[in-house]
Amino acid sequence: MLTEINNNGTFINDRELAPVLGFSRDSLLQDRNRRRRYGLEPEQRMATLEDDSARGYHYLRHDADWVTADITVSTVADQIPIAPGYVVSDETANGRRTTRFRTDAPIMQFFSIQSADYEVRRGRWNDVELAVYYDRRHEYNVDRMIQAMQTSFDVFTREFSPFQFRQMRILEFPAYQQFAQSFANTVPYSESIGFIAKFDEALAARESDRVDFVTYVTAHEVAHQWWAHQLIGADMQGSTMLSETFASYSALLVMEELYGPDQVRRFLRVELDNYLRSRGGEVIEELPLMRVENQPYIHYRKGAVAMYFLRNEVGEDAVNRAMQRLLEQYAFRGAPYPRSLDFVTLLREEVGDNPAHQALITDLFERITLYDARVVEATTTRRADNRWDVSLVVEARKLYADGEGAETEAPLDEAFEIGVFSAEPGRGAFSSSDVIAFERRPIRSGRQTLTLVVDREPSFAGIDPYNKRIDRNSEDNVSAVTAATPSGAARSQGR
Ligand SMILES: [Zn+2]
Repeated sequence: MLTEINNNGTFINDRELAPVLGFSRDSLLQDRNRRRRYGLEPEQRMATLEDDSARGYHYLRHDADWVTADITVSTVADQIPIAPGYVVSDETANGRRTTRFRTDAPIMQFFSIQSADYEVRRGRWNDVELAVYYDRRHEYNVDRMIQAMQTSFDVFTREFSPFQFRQMRILEFPAYQQFAQSFANTVPYSESIGFIAKFDEALAARESDRVDFVTYVTAHEVAHQWWAHQLIGADMQGSTMLSETFASYSALLVMEELYGPDQVRRFLRVELDNYLRSRGGEVIEELPLMRVENQPYIHYRKGAVAMYFLRNEVGEDAVNRAMQRLLEQYAFRGAPYPRSLDFVTLLREEVGDNPAHQALITDLFERITLYDARVVEATTTRRADNRWDVSLVVEARKLYADGEGAETEAPLDEAFEIGVFSAEPGRGAFSSSDVIAFERRPIRSGRQTLTLVVDREPSFAGIDPYNKRIDRNSEDNVSAVTAATPSGAARSQGR
């Protein structure tokens, strides 16, 4: 039973299509000019957030709500077959192995089936059996994946809701494709992104820009057991915010638990730069996060930065409680499916009537907001008491962009983080011991001078030095600090 929408946007019923043939709409030409050149109509867009009729379906498929699965797989005798659910029978006869899998918790009618000559490594988290099915020549990161699953379950069951299955499995597949994807208690994971590249902890510690991507991807996919497999967005704008953005945010909580905030900040800086680069290549329309139309640079890149900045400003409790309440209201339920707007509404309740927090939610979710903060000059003078005066001249602006990238300046009056450091933040072996001063200061549009008194000789200073905001240029937020000349006019020495 399948209803497809054809290229003209009209419905073809399943009788005309049987046996079912389909194609991925992702492969359609996106560029409006090229579509016009080939005589095609403009690409179909997603239903808007205001279109309540779109809440009748979730965004993965239109042929089923939540289902239970009963799948029997037959393969050659020396392979292990895997499908969603638990093994209820497993027999080998006449050179064939036949295994039957059933689920008890409801799942999406959206699954994968594997069969391969696997090696299996097992682990445990409370009552949940963990397993990685892999090629025996590719065991480098297998223990790391088990550990990432364990920490993920610690964090997600504590912050969100219980896990719905008794088993969680990762399955290596060949590098024909380069992704990992979460299905009910099953994550196919390409060898190219998780198995054949060895993450070397000692090397990563020396070159501290390296992020443990295996743990990040594993945590992201485990997080989808909540964000897609407990709660699934309506087939409309914003749907992937509830799955991809939330899975990325959840994975960052795991990364922070394992590696601390500095690693997360380094990762987010890469995400920020990627978002800024990618939005320039948008061919249809950049949309606010709450209206994302399955645009990866928005739901992954911008989403991760936005959620982490939100958490920084309103507190982790408020963010995670809003996510938890969304699960309470919508997990495993059929239509009407949840909208990004339902999360934003809960978030607004959780942050209360703090006007700065309410305005921040508008900026992060409902608008395309960019900042442009930079250090113009940072100087220091030794004082008679052997402490140091620091003078930081900064410039800041806030901009709202429309879908085509046209920007309008908005008045800025917000608290920014200001930092003074003995080493450059986020680079090399920078650590918390390099933080000399770190505080929040009110910042307005335009140029202003901030002064601080610190105990140690400073080397670097910056405004939003960890790039927590979506700043158009992440490179100019921090500057080397120079000695002020006697006249008070300093020699400029930006990076
Ligand atoms: Zn994902």
